[in-house]
Amino acid sequence: MVPPYLQVSSVSLGYGGVRALFDVSFSLDQGTMLAVIGANGAGKSSLARAISGLVPLQSGMIRFDGAEISGRPSHLIQRKGVVYVPEGRGIFRSLTVEENLLLAMRHLSTRSSRLQAKDFAYELFPALANRPKQRADTLSGGEQQMLALARSYTMDAKLLIVDEPSFGLAPKLVDQVFESLRQATARGITVIIIEQFVDRVLSMSDLCLILAGGAVNWSGPVADARAVLHERYLGSSTSANGPPPDHPSGVEAPAETVAPVNSQRMPDIE
Ligand code: ATP
Repeated sequence: MVPPYLQVSSVSLGYGGVRALFDVSFSLDQGTMLAVIGANGAGKSSLARAISGLVPLQSGMIRFDGAEISGRPSHLIQRKGVVYVPEGRGIFRSLTVEENLLLAMRHLSTRSSRLQAKDFAYELFPALANRPKQRADTLSGGEQQMLALARSYTMDAKLLIVDEPSFGLAPKLVDQVFESLRQATARGITVIIIEQFVDRVLSMSDLCLILAGGAVNWSGPVADARAVLHERYLGSSTSANGPPPDHPSGVEAPAETVAPVNSQRMPDIE
């Protein structure tokens, strides 16, 4: 049997006395997209940092593409193709757009491969193609987010972990960012996306992981996730025994992601 592309097994970690993740396990196949959702402080970014090697595990193991990556330095994990785009960008602010892209592509040995990677980035984000000489810190928030993603695509990412890519973006730019992620998976890149826009992210993901208090509250296919979220957060039930409790497992509704009970927002959930 082929082992999963990414295998996270019983991972626990903390910061000083603060426990951030507890016994988290899941696996992902190549080319799939996983949506990680949960309330503020649920451990979503800690999971991203753990996979990227930015924080040490207290226990557990992470394997990627046939090798154990837990315990390895983050630059070596990145060299294996695990690219983390943190919330709030991850760009060199004093460098221009073009210089940011060139730095991300330094592992590409030929001029033609660099040109190809740059063309791909500019094709996905035409707004950047018009301003190669502009300093990153003078870009708008949305353009900086595009640059952060463009950099990750040119880094030859195999597993892309994006932390709240829609943060602070206008709706039109959110569409563009999500479309670029969809294109990334169409090219075989495996994506883990941490998002507050639950309905949007579920509509383009394959799997969903709900974190609560640092532990896995639920995981499975997005088709089932919609029903779980609908029941737990919107307070309606398909059960004949009446409505379920608002938060049956002690899970808080992720901030800004779900409507208050009875308000009937979240149009994607039938
Ligand atoms: P948010 O949606 O608000 O970004 P999150 O789900 O990404 O939250 P984490 O950032 O992973 O959550 O934080 C999980 C827990 O670990 C929280 O209780 C947080 O306060 C704590 N934590 C995170 N980073 C640190 C740190 N560097 N030092 C101490 N505690 C931390």
